[in-house]
Amino acid sequence: MAENTTENESVTLFREYLRIPSVQPNVNYSDSVKFFKGQAEKLGLPIKVHYMSPNTPIVVITLSGKQPELPSVLLSSHMDVVPVYPKCWKHDPFSAYKDETGNIYARGAQDMKCVSIQYIETIKKYLQEKLNFKRTIHLCFTPDEETGSLFGIRKFIKTSEFAEMNIGFVLDEGKATPNEVFNVFYGERTIWGLTITCTGTTGHGSILYESTAGEKLQYIINKFMNWREREKTRLRNTNLEPGDVTSVNLTKINGGCQFNVLPPEISVSFDIRLAVEEDPKEMEEVVKSWCIEAGEGVSVEFKKDPIRVPPTKICDNNLWWAAFKRECNNMKLKINPCIFTGATDSRFIRNVGIPALGFSPMNHTTPLAHDHNEFLNENIFIKGLDIYYNIIKALASV
Ligand code: ZN
Repeated sequence: MAENTTENESVTLFREYLRIPSVQPNVNYSDSVKFFKGQAEKLGLPIKVHYMSPNTPIVVITLSGKQPELPSVLLSSHMDVVPVYPKCWKHDPFSAYKDETGNIYARGAQDMKCVSIQYIETIKKYLQEKLNFKRTIHLCFTPDEETGSLFGIRKFIKTSEFAEMNIGFVLDEGKATPNEVFNVFYGERTIWGLTITCTGTTGHGSILYESTAGEKLQYIINKFMNWREREKTRLRNTNLEPGDVTSVNLTKINGGCQFNVLPPEISVSFDIRLAVEEDPKEMEEVVKSWCIEAGEGVSVEFKKDPIRVPPTKICDNNLWWAAFKRECNNMKLKINPCIFTGATDSRFIRNVGIPALGFSPMNHTTPLAHDHNEFLNENIFIKGLDIYYNIIKALASV
């Protein structure tokens, strides 16, 4: 059994970190901070903990470069994980159970405690080999990514401490792929949400009244579902990937009180992720026109402040991208640059003009982030250490 054989030290550390239950909501990060303080001490590197609120620390460990005046490299990872349904798990999600094939089961195994430990272990290796690079490398461990980073990176990027780090480039999380290819995310779609409220004639449910809320709701839903269908067709008939099109989903309907009473009001909500080329301002006008067409008493409320972020440039003029790609080519890794379907902390980083790539070295792995029985195989984790070793070295030498 795997438990009896000697385990790779990095895997042991990974499992130790997985056993810290930093689960949303209301995470207590004190054990996570303690863990990183211990790691920094072992590495002999300075650590800073910046509290963005009393319970949301940003932890930064720094390896100084030979030319600290140059823009630095930031290796970012979040400490929090999403909740679990314990009954749906084969093994306790916070035990980091390893089966005989080397699969390590735990919440956070893929998203993204693996990456945090791989960063640390890579730095450890550089220190053991007495390697010293041109640029400073910062490791940053953030809170509350899974709940929108309101009291984490979003606040941190506005501080003088962040400015002083003089960051030139950021590596952050990606996603597992079931095949050989590694996805590298250079952009994210715009998160856009809205609720439309339709008011209408009330009265007895047996009469064919004009201008009912239901008729107006039908008009609105059709508009959105037609849009959804167009995007599905685009995805089916082209070589576009899920991150390249807009996703439109009806997520909530509210209204009505009884079967035989016409409701005075029905509301419907949509979760929309706009493709990078779509302008939310323009779409706002389109949706407003649909509301007018639907009839009297139809109004829309948009989720405020959609953040439309330009993607990081993936051309050879971007020296960071060039270095990343060159190392992947040298290792003969098959990479697929693409747009993330979900959202990560990278969007806040890119939004302040810093290039960022989302990359987690997990190929041949079923994507199970946020799912039951999330696991990562120890061999994939170990291979990831070599991949980071080369990539981070190259980035710190740009
Ligand atoms: Zn994540």
